[in-house]
Amino acid sequence: MNSKPITPSDVLEALRDYLDPELGRSIVSLGQVRQIRVDAGSLSVSVGLTSFAAPLWEEIRLELTERLRKAFPQLPEVKVVIEAWDRPPEKLGLVGISAKGVVAVGSGKGGVGKSTVAVLLAQGLAKAGCRVGLLDADLYGPSIPHLLGLHQQPTVSNDRLQPIWADGIAVMSIGLFVPAGEAILWRGPMLHNAIRQFLQDTDWGPLDYLIVDMPPGTGDVALSLSQLLPLTEVVVVCTPQDVALLDATKAITMFRKLQIELLGMVENMSYFICPGCGMRHEIFGSGGAKRRAEQLNVPFLGQIPLNVDLRIQCDQGRLANVWQDPVLASCLQSICHQLVRQAVSLRRQKAREVQLPVL
Ligand code: ADP
Repeated sequence: MNSKPITPSDVLEALRDYLDPELGRSIVSLGQVRQIRVDAGSLSVSVGLTSFAAPLWEEIRLELTERLRKAFPQLPEVKVVIEAWDRPPEKLGLVGISAKGVVAVGSGKGGVGKSTVAVLLAQGLAKAGCRVGLLDADLYGPSIPHLLGLHQQPTVSNDRLQPIWADGIAVMSIGLFVPAGEAILWRGPMLHNAIRQFLQDTDWGPLDYLIVDMPPGTGDVALSLSQLLPLTEVVVVCTPQDVALLDATKAITMFRKLQIELLGMVENMSYFICPGCGMRHEIFGSGGAKRRAEQLNVPFLGQIPLNVDLRIQCDQGRLANVWQDPVLASCLQSICHQLVRQAVSLRRQKAREVQLPVL
């Protein structure tokens, strides 16, 4: 039995190789291990974390507690408290937006629920405590204003476009400037300029995540985004049928060619729970996207069922209401958690690569 008293530096040593989820560097060397209190038989530590990984705070707290329990089995009580830690984002890419991550949401074809998923991801991250912006880059068919029931036009203040705030998310869309249902014609260079302007001229404020709803399929907007914001990561939405999966595969190939990192695939309209009999129906087949994700070596983030209420809330512009359904909320929350886990794992991996000595 170790009778030597435990000191704060023993505690720091035990936590030294725990990597900050945002920067992928030691939480100890970043100074994020705050108060350490060792009293007879009990240890309490407070750790500062930024809102980038807010959805994972509870699981990180449990991991840190477990780590300290293992390091100091002689202590009957170990308590870890997570506190908010502020670290402003750096300016990204040629457009200089202040964001810690840019997550494009793409799909192989239209109608698979890509915009719906983009909104739900933005809402899920914002609900968990992240600072989120949502850019509708589906310039041919902007549907974000409709899904969120937004009708007001953005104003300009200090030469910057003011985003519209909805459910705690800063939203910008070309659809806020044109009457619903009006066709918008774009030539190639105009498309690039429009994306650049929306990124650069919008007063996004400091963001953890900018979610970008991409046009369906492969094309110019992805190329623009990869040039303007080289650190963009992508989530691909698909439905379980083979045809949709083939298109999703093409989209994944395109993102890889553009060196846009893949955070994962989301399968939408995966199954239908009959409200009458409670039976699960696999209308478009089952498990297709998960299998395809494995074949393509892309993380699978989760499934969203085909849900009548979700469809109604989309049509009525009140998508935030679907979070009141506990079953839907739990699968959406799990997808958001998987997305952040993936983003964190990429950052930790990149930080390790940077630290490796070049021989
Ligand atoms: P995309 O962006 O891929 O073209 P949308 O997100 O605009 O597709 O979705 C098209 C429509 O499909 C939405 O308006 C919504 O009514 C419906 N929808 C999307 N996902 C679901 C779902 N999981 N359950 C029921 N309806 C859905």
